[in-house]
Amino acid sequence: MKVAFYSSKKYDIDSFGNANNNTGIELNFLESRLEKSTVPLAAGHDGVCIFVNDSCDADVLEGLANLGVKCVALRCAGFNNVDLQAAERLGIEISRVPAYSPEAVAEFATGMIMTVVRKYHKAYSRVREGNFLLDGLLGFNLFQKTIGIIGTGKIGLLTGKILAKGFECNVIAYDLYPSKQAGEYGIRYVDTLEELLRQSDIISLHCPLTDGTKHMINDTTLGQMKKGVILINTSRGALIDTTALIKALKSGHLGAVGLDVYEKESAYFFADSSTKIIYDDNFARLLSFYNVFVSGHQAFLTVEALKKIADTTLRNLQDCANGKKSPNLVERK
Ligand code: NAD
Repeated sequence: MKVAFYSSKKYDIDSFGNANNNTGIELNFLESRLEKSTVPLAAGHDGVCIFVNDSCDADVLEGLANLGVKCVALRCAGFNNVDLQAAERLGIEISRVPAYSPEAVAEFATGMIMTVVRKYHKAYSRVREGNFLLDGLLGFNLFQKTIGIIGTGKIGLLTGKILAKGFECNVIAYDLYPSKQAGEYGIRYVDTLEELLRQSDIISLHCPLTDGTKHMINDTTLGQMKKGVILINTSRGALIDTTALIKALKSGHLGAVGLDVYEKESAYFFADSSTKIIYDDNFARLLSFYNVFVSGHQAFLTVEALKKIADTTLRNLQDCANGKKSPNLVERK
């Protein structure tokens, strides 16, 4: 089976190169992002492999189907960038990597909390300049603080566990489908999202991006949060309405924000944008706040996660090549 591997980076080439032994799969690594104009690059391939910011809308899927592409393998967990209805209509199989290393993201989210609370990033640059003043670096203890976890799937549960068991935080959670494991991890559910927002000192988002969760953090929900709250998003950018976030930052309502994702990240993330003008004024404004820490969708990036992503994606592609139903198919509910 020949597979066009879009948006490839060096770490993908290394991890998939190491994992691709005797699979019968030939990977053609392409730097281009999948979008309508780059569909022709998939000519002569049976499958394509994509990541979080590739576009797999109905137009793209139609183009791929016309080229004879049978499957799209997402090398990530989220599938919000795929039109599942169109894929079903066109008979294209969509697979993903449902759980590659929830620890990678949960540990990163915890580190992001520590970074914005204790200001590691500011200390790092200050010390490199020979400035050892501590003014402006005042933090607070996490011990006994109330942390609100929104979405207690694989990553949210682990983040809550680290904070409850490791830091002895009071971890509360909200999920449409509460998990039975939460109690043993020291996580307590509240009945409504509003209750979580009102009680939490720190809020961490861990639910998927769906029609129901898009802009769940907006003017109203930000208004329900405590003054000085810390908001962390390692999930998907569009969970947050950026305009409302900026308003809440400007008014001083938010204490600090940590973002590994941004709703329009595909224009800048996963590329060296240091010699580009940032035309997205909301993004530029976010980067300008002293109390906002942004990383470029990095939470998944560990050796362990990359290995699991490569192994599972290759298995998904083999299943497609062999006409076998992969356990990791994404189907329309
Ligand atoms: P998961 O499917 O295991 O869990 C998601 C949870 O969110 C589920 O328990 C679900 O019931 C809950 N949920 C859905 N809608 C909700 C709502 N309206 N309110 C509250 N809870 C709701 O997912 P996961 O593997 O834990 O991943 C969580 C998120 O992290 C996903 O968005 C994924 O795309 C993202 N992610 C980011 C990175 C990164 O590198 N930054 C890496 C992996 C995953």
